[in-house]
Amino acid sequence: MKIALTVTAISLVFLTIACQTSEENITPATNTTTNPTTPTTPSTTVNPSSQEIYDTFVRLALKNSAGTAAMTIRKWLPTKTQIKVYWDGGRTTTLLSALDKVMADMNTLNKYNKMVRTEVVAEADIIINRVEAATHNSKYASFQVSNSSVQGTTFTQWSSDAITKAVVWLSPSTPSNLQNGVLRHELTHALGIGHTENTKSIMIPVMSSTTYDFNSFSILDQRIIQILSDNRVKQGNTEANISAVIKEYAAK
Ligand SMILES: [Zn+2]
Repeated sequence: MKIALTVTAISLVFLTIACQTSEENITPATNTTTNPTTPTTPSTTVNPSSQEIYDTFVRLALKNSAGTAAMTIRKWLPTKTQIKVYWDGGRTTTLLSALDKVMADMNTLNKYNKMVRTEVVAEADIIINRVEAATHNSKYASFQVSNSSVQGTTFTQWSSDAITKAVVWLSPSTPSNLQNGVLRHELTHALGIGHTENTKSIMIPVMSSTTYDFNSFSILDQRIIQILSDNRVKQGNTEANISAVIKEYAAK
């Protein structure tokens, strides 16, 4: 007897976060002369309310990029114990130090997926590339930057809501005093987190609308990352599935 075999092709979808016109534009709208002023207020001093934590998590992890439609949880699997990060073009000693700081901050909040740097591109789960958009596009055919006037774009690749790869494009034109904030913002996208309009979060699409210094995660962002990485929050979950878990963190 012949056994019929069925081959199912799993299609991968690419999500482009924040590559629309004006998104990721962190140049202050009202700036007069040269570079924008470096924000100085530590974001960690700003306390969000429980409702803000709940609402922001729903906006960041359970809505599409525009905030117009409900989405299911998309995340790296808890069994993915190491996320290997490779910096391709445009790396500097200063930026690598900033990356190490962002990864260390994430690793204290995320119990399961620890970010580590790699120098082997073939094993990279996340690739960072800080080159002109045209140069990036000629190398990364599947991760095309469509708007080169933004500060960064993060592409996330997933299958069945489990993230399997991310490519972060950073603009080489970003002023040096804002590079750390953009890097932190884009790497947070790579976790499966979208945008919010809440200025207590680094995930605002236009960073000039805040005065906070985003060289660390705000309390709001810390809660968001903790909730998403909690083992009870599973890829494919809806808000109804996990509202109790979100409330638990919101009450902390
Ligand atoms: Zn963004």
